[in-house]
Amino acid sequence: MEEKVIKHFALAGNPNCGKTTLFNSLTGSTAHVGNWPGVTVDKREGIYKKGKEKVDIVDLPGIYSLSPYTPEEVVSRNFILDDKPDCVINIVDATNLERNLYLTTQILEMDVPVVVALNMMDVLEKSGDKIDSHELEKRLGVPVVEISALKEKNLDELMTRAIEASCHSRKGVTVLNDSNLIHLIKDCEIAFRGKNVNNPLFHAIKLVENDEIETKNHPDLVKMVDEYKNQFKSDTFGDDFEAIIADDRYKYITKYFAPLIKRSEKTIEGKKKLTLSDKIDKVLTNKWAGIPIFIAILFVIFHFVFSEDLFYLGAMGVNFSMNFEGTAFEGLFWTDGGINSIGVFSANLLNSITGLITTSINGAMEAAKVEPALIGFVCDGVLGGLFAVLGFLPQILWLFLFFSIMEDTGYMARVAFILDRIFRKFGLSGRAFIPMIMGFGCSVPATINTRTLASEEERIATIRVIPFFSCGAKLPILTAVAGGLASSAFHISNPELVTLGMYLLGMIVAIVSVLFMRNTTMRGEVPPFIMELPAYHLPQFKALMIHLWDKCKHFVKKAFTIILLSTILIWFLSNFTWQYQYIGAEDGGVKDSILANIGQLIQPLFTPLGFGSQLRSGGWVFAVAAITGLIAKENVVATLGVLAAFFIGQSVDVEADGGIEAVAIMIQQTGISVPGAIAFIAFNMLTIPCFAAVATAKAELRKGTLKWTLLFWIIVSYVVSTMIYTIGEFWWTSFIWAAVIALTVVGIIYYNKYRDLKKIK
Ligand code: GDP
Ligand code: MG
Repeated sequence: MEEKVIKHFALAGNPNCGKTTLFNSLTGSTAHVGNWPGVTVDKREGIYKKGKEKVDIVDLPGIYSLSPYTPEEVVSRNFILDDKPDCVINIVDATNLERNLYLTTQILEMDVPVVVALNMMDVLEKSGDKIDSHELEKRLGVPVVEISALKEKNLDELMTRAIEASCHSRKGVTVLNDSNLIHLIKDCEIAFRGKNVNNPLFHAIKLVENDEIETKNHPDLVKMVDEYKNQFKSDTFGDDFEAIIADDRYKYITKYFAPLIKRSEKTIEGKKKLTLSDKIDKVLTNKWAGIPIFIAILFVIFHFVFSEDLFYLGAMGVNFSMNFEGTAFEGLFWTDGGINSIGVFSANLLNSITGLITTSINGAMEAAKVEPALIGFVCDGVLGGLFAVLGFLPQILWLFLFFSIMEDTGYMARVAFILDRIFRKFGLSGRAFIPMIMGFGCSVPATINTRTLASEEERIATIRVIPFFSCGAKLPILTAVAGGLASSAFHISNPELVTLGMYLLGMIVAIVSVLFMRNTTMRGEVPPFIMELPAYHLPQFKALMIHLWDKCKHFVKKAFTIILLSTILIWFLSNFTWQYQYIGAEDGGVKDSILANIGQLIQPLFTPLGFGSQLRSGGWVFAVAAITGLIAKENVVATLGVLAAFFIGQSVDVEADGGIEAVAIMIQQTGISVPGAIAFIAFNMLTIPCFAAVATAKAELRKGTLKWTLLFWIIVSYVVSTMIYTIGEFWWTSFIWAAVIALTVVGIIYYNKYRDLKKIK
């Protein structure tokens, strides 16, 4: 049999040109595709199996050039230079040919086989524009293949030609032959060749550009360039060789490549008018309207996912539920007269199914006269906790669907753009917004994404506030406690407002913390933020589904592993005394359980937060729930779910509403106040995130900063929750808090002044 050789190809191209889409199509993986620059930070690997030989494919981060200005550029450049792929597939966005070819001209300077994939051909064809790709191939000197990564068109041809190209070595060529600097470049190339350096042409040009990496690695050759500088001055750019070379590249592209695009009448017409996208941007990125619109959109999304009174029809007096009173439809579609939103409806649907499962298992076990301890274990310990968590899956998926739509249409990139103006004042660039918004999904990838931030201080500050952007696993805490408050005697009629409010609280705490850090321990300049706004387009169904499927898989896997284990553990600890005696729900003897003992020990710690000693004997449940949340945030509600059964001395139908009833029972049993319950949400949201997030932060942070980061999370959550509880309970404490905040601010200002003075001396 013929031996299968594995080849290595790399995908390189501008941000947002479709690299990851192509990577997914070729390798069948489900990497995150986003309609904004900077989604792929790390390189990703996959295998292409359709051809005769297997090919290993690496998706490099998106870059505009090979100069080492951003971490993405360094990663991509070093990969091509050091890992020496057998072929570089340079993806070029055909709708933006000239700008994309700027990178191509640099890749061509390396001694590596290159194939240009002309992507987005479907968009180009729709607009009626044409590119003479045969002529482009001749002029570039490397194969050019027209493809559509999204529609999976011509991908086999692309791979065939790439495999063919990879069989022959290629010498680097440059478009700078007409440049005034070509003699210097050639001399440097000879010098590099003399030093036996690979890719001499590429290094020579970068050296002439005065590139940071080259000048550091080859200080002996810098003299050549400097001497030349003394005798050569261009009229426009003086001795800025980097600018001269960039200009020469663009001149070449304009002269030889741009004429290959034939614009249709339609595009030419369109160019003259404001495009639709420009018009939309005028509104969405407006200086004043941009942020209110963003908040309004968030509100609408939350309304559709969490509201039990869609469009507030119930509150306006329209009562739909009467006709359906007593039927199965009632709970599913209507709550107290209002229509359920799509999120609540699907959660109710799933919960009635899981509820049915528990009841029938319970019934069957009772009929078979199984030990009550075993029934309790299966129904309350295993199913109770598990279903309480799974019950949130529908709402989480809806929320992510809406977020993915915002991202895929290109709207999120606009939000990053509007927020850059504000972020700058707090000491962050708009770049930091991307990992932050990813934090709404999960802190783990968000923390990894901070690698796009160029400054170390900005990066640490961002990693520390990412958990404040409430992740998917924290959502059940928000909704269950908010729902529990609403269904208790407190008359909070809009639980989704509490949920949205907590999301906003997280963002505000993040901003304040960044401001604080950037003025004290994490000082530094804010690097410039240059981002091209991607074109608006309709969300892609396939990409959305891949994204949702990923989320779903992740969540279910977690529910059946770590969360299941923790709920079982909690069930045991709450059902047995230190003497291994089974207590059982009926006796209501949970107060003597091991868990209660441990809980009572730590309970006083939470007194300033409103869920400590003032709650008398039952209050320890909140303390315990917060601690179990450190393993996985889903545990918080699952814990309350398991414990609720013991408190009222009978099984609670925890599954019926995803923990809301369980929390409501806890609220009634412990007498926790509204401010106390909200402080409880805030504490869980802001404190140390789950194990996985902490481990990622440890890996990404500079050595020695993790312990400060953990301390930071504890202090912030403790202080903010105490503030919420004390102000909510005793309004006059707001004066004390105001004074404390004012003193801190004055202190920082004075300290900074003193520091500046010392520096001047
Ligand atoms: P990357 O930043 O280069 O990895 O780009 P992505 O793969 O994340 O794609 C950016 C956007 O372009 C996504 O919204 C894709 O759906 C879209 N896209 C990618 N390839 C094509 C294509 O061939 N045709 C069209 N119409 N859209 C595409
Ligand atoms: Mg990508």
